[in-house]
Amino acid sequence: MASHLCVPVDGLKADTKTPDLLNASLVCKSFNELTTRRLWRVVRQALHYRRDDPKAMPSVPLPKSKLRHTKDLQFLIGFPGAATCRHNLTDESQEQLDVRLSETVNTILDAFEDGQIEEFSWHVEDCIPQCAIGSQGILSTRHPGLQLLAMSSDTSCQGPDPADLAKGLDAFRQLRTISWMLPSAANVRHLALLFKNNAEHLRDVELITSPGDIVYGMSTGLRAEDDELSSEEGLREFMIGQVLCAGVPAPLEAPVFPAIRKLCLDEVGVDERLGLALNFETLEVLVLHGCPGWGLAVESAARHGGKIRLREFELYAMYSVAVTDFERLCGFITAFSGLRSFCASMDGSLRSAPMWECLAGHHAATLKRFVHCQQRIPETDDWPNLMECLWPAAASSNEARIDSDMAPLQLGPQGSMLKECDLEFLGFEATQSHMVNMILGRNSRTRSPSS
Ligand SMILES: [Zn+2]
Repeated sequence: MASHLCVPVDGLKADTKTPDLLNASLVCKSFNELTTRRLWRVVRQALHYRRDDPKAMPSVPLPKSKLRHTKDLQFLIGFPGAATCRHNLTDESQEQLDVRLSETVNTILDAFEDGQIEEFSWHVEDCIPQCAIGSQGILSTRHPGLQLLAMSSDTSCQGPDPADLAKGLDAFRQLRTISWMLPSAANVRHLALLFKNNAEHLRDVELITSPGDIVYGMSTGLRAEDDELSSEEGLREFMIGQVLCAGVPAPLEAPVFPAIRKLCLDEVGVDERLGLALNFETLEVLVLHGCPGWGLAVESAARHGGKIRLREFELYAMYSVAVTDFERLCGFITAFSGLRSFCASMDGSLRSAPMWECLAGHHAATLKRFVHCQQRIPETDDWPNLMECLWPAAASSNEARIDSDMAPLQLGPQGSMLKECDLEFLGFEATQSHMVNMILGRNSRTRSPSS
């Protein structure tokens, strides 16, 4: 039996997220042969290594007969708890680590046939070695047809050579998916290159940035020569113009991303150009998480987005929401119909009634998932509407807080503005004390607040 077990092996692992398939592969040799192609399509390699002992990086067994089925290669983990990548180390271990990591990655990548890898992810808490992506990198030279590239990096990284990484990334002209977590200032320019080269066929995009860290790195001397990205305003303008608009100059006359399907942005500044850059006839999922300028973006989408076919919309407003932005959001929601999922986390001092009514009025027939978080304003106890929405009877003793606008929001027996929806998931977020009172139907306002 053991002679034909395909998974797991010690080191490289096949797709163990499909346990049924995994179990089926263990039944007999025939089942094993039937399932191998599917199980080994995705291979995940955890790179466990110690900075105090670079030589301790384990060698990886390479079951080549199985790897011929692999299309999706993922590197994970890295140095546990690392605060920074190896390039920022000042002692001699940097070079040793670089050599050892490069040897390991090179050995693994060398096990695949040219053009075999279609999807590549680097989620290691350390920068990708040049032997993978670079002017002579194996992925760049032997797998330029890559369709998915997911990268994680260090905002404060001073290496590797940005110019060589740019040459390596320039090889990828067929990307359908780009994901980049925590780019450095140099990586922001790499992103611009990737978006420019792939805008026509990009389908899925995920960008998680930390602009404060990037600018801090610039201000402390890292990449100080790049004046354009040395302020948050400069960085934001570059991201919008060169990444989210792929360098196409304004005014945009046609969507820059005609095939876009999913866009998730985290702390990426946006403005009205985003509404023009995206093709809302193909966009199904839009996530704006802590994105300054989101009001301008959704207003532009409502005005210029044509036939919007969005199915999932998620908005996390990190700061207080201006009334004008709230009105822009309501305008966006009423500009189309067909949402299946709506998630919003917003300033708790806002009255939510107009937004809920817009949702019920335009998306009741399709809405299946509704999540609403009213963020607590720290300096007040103005936990606004949630109690009243959920437990109008409990809140009725506080007449000063009840107004007629809240009536349609009641979820109790009196009826709800969401009762027209056939919801499969309903989510609220509140402090524990309020949640308990909601469940018990008691009036929290007679108690001292706690959070
Ligand atoms: Zn680095």
